[in-house]
Amino acid sequence: MISETYPILVADDEVVSERQLLKEHESGPRMEGIESVRYLILHCSATRPDQDYTVRQLERDHRARGFRTVGYHFYIRRDGEVTQHRRLLEVGAHCRPFNRCSVGICYEGGLDAQGHPADTRTPQQRKALQQLLVRLLHLFPGVRIMGHRDMPGTTPKACPCFDARQEYGWLEDVVP
Ligand SMILES: [Zn+2]
Repeated sequence: MISETYPILVADDEVVSERQLLKEHESGPRMEGIESVRYLILHCSATRPDQDYTVRQLERDHRARGFRTVGYHFYIRRDGEVTQHRRLLEVGAHCRPFNRCSVGICYEGGLDAQGHPADTRTPQQRKALQQLLVRLLHLFPGVRIMGHRDMPGTTPKACPCFDARQEYGWLEDVVP
């Protein structure tokens, strides 16, 4: 049970709203163990190639949506810089109702100059993403690499704007 004092802390998470608290009750702030993680879910930030979308902006936007911090576990800038925002068994906020069984990875981009969905990954992002996926496959045996749009019951039309299964599914077989 969670004590009824404010600010409420669930694990190390400060609950920012009642709605958030209900969500935490529903899902719990932590996953049970490595076997809880069944999917590595890929996202894009839905920003244009000429638009800098910094970690600070991402964090601000996710806080505005009621999240404690960035909802993804990892974020990959266009220059290939990877930052981690949630601990690995922490429940993320990126793909309901799969947050409890997945790790969320987002790359900066996903829209072309006209604002249409497009695979805008830079070579640095591709390299960083593949390296991260390999690391995570080592940590979570049997996990599947999915695009946000591949997850049933979710609503994105395009995210992450490339075919994650086709591009990375094979890694599941070659990483022991
Ligand atoms: Zn997404």
